[in-house]
Amino acid sequence: MIKLVQMTNAGVAGKFRNLFKAREIFFHDGTSLRRLTIGSRVQFALAVTALSLLLWSIFAAAQLAIVAAGPSQADIARMEREMESMQADVLTIKKVAQARYHLTAREVRRLGLDPDRLQEGVGGPLEAVPATRVADPNFKALFMSWKRLEKLEQGTIAIPSTEPVHGTAFTSGYGVRSDPFRGRAAMHAGIDLAGPIGTPIYATADGFVGRSQWVNGYGNLVELDHGRGIQTRYGHLSKSLVQEGQRVKRGDMIALMGSTGRSTGSHLHYEVRLDGKAVNPVPFMQSSNYLQSVQRRAAASTPIAIGGPEAGTR
Ligand SMILES: [Zn+2]
Repeated sequence: MIKLVQMTNAGVAGKFRNLFKAREIFFHDGTSLRRLTIGSRVQFALAVTALSLLLWSIFAAAQLAIVAAGPSQADIARMEREMESMQADVLTIKKVAQARYHLTAREVRRLGLDPDRLQEGVGGPLEAVPATRVADPNFKALFMSWKRLEKLEQGTIAIPSTEPVHGTAFTSGYGVRSDPFRGRAAMHAGIDLAGPIGTPIYATADGFVGRSQWVNGYGNLVELDHGRGIQTRYGHLSKSLVQEGQRVKRGDMIALMGSTGRSTGSHLHYEVRLDGKAVNPVPFMQSSNYLQSVQRRAAASTPIAIGGPEAGTR
């Protein structure tokens, strides 16, 4: 058993590389051995967690066996040091997950969104492992931290965060400040961004095309549904380049600027709506680098597949 521990220790670096090369790791969820296929480098920290826990349980098992066999004091001291260091690593990983969650949740709240709402219906790769199957309390705590973080980060993909037009002149702001009575005809429900007719208009978040049609006042309108009650509207377009029901990604060109509808010159009328109610789009256009990097990471993370126990590993 000591030999096993020494081998594990010596082989950690090599194993790590090989495991990532193969993009598969095995971990124990407390009841059975599971296979985790890593599809992206962004899941690296998750894999570190799983691997640490796997090694941790090996050490724990080895330590018990050594006690029964009567090991030397030096063996026990060494293993205790290794255990402590590993437990510290696991704690660090958990703290990283929690810190990332709180930073992201703060950004989400700053935009007037509810972090819990954002996680509704979001199923990350970790959803594949039922929490009830996770027996070990240390693993469970880590697992839940990662699961919560993963869901929130995936949920941020719905938040409009980029500018719908590149390098445009800002001509008219959102009307709340000039008219405190929301819903009045005088209120300007969005912002106006001026530019030449034909200027490309880009989707500010991933979503589906809810509407691509003529609407009185808006002229040619594209409305995107981003999920979780979030919508964006793009008005006065000279041309829509998308069709209803079409899937769009953040940054996709969706339309060309124009002056259709109630408009006196070529500009984009841009709105952000939460549960159907127009809100000030400016904070969304000024989303922090942190939020944007979370969104990029979440969008780039290809799904990781978690398979059940392999035949013969149970
Ligand atoms: Zn406008």
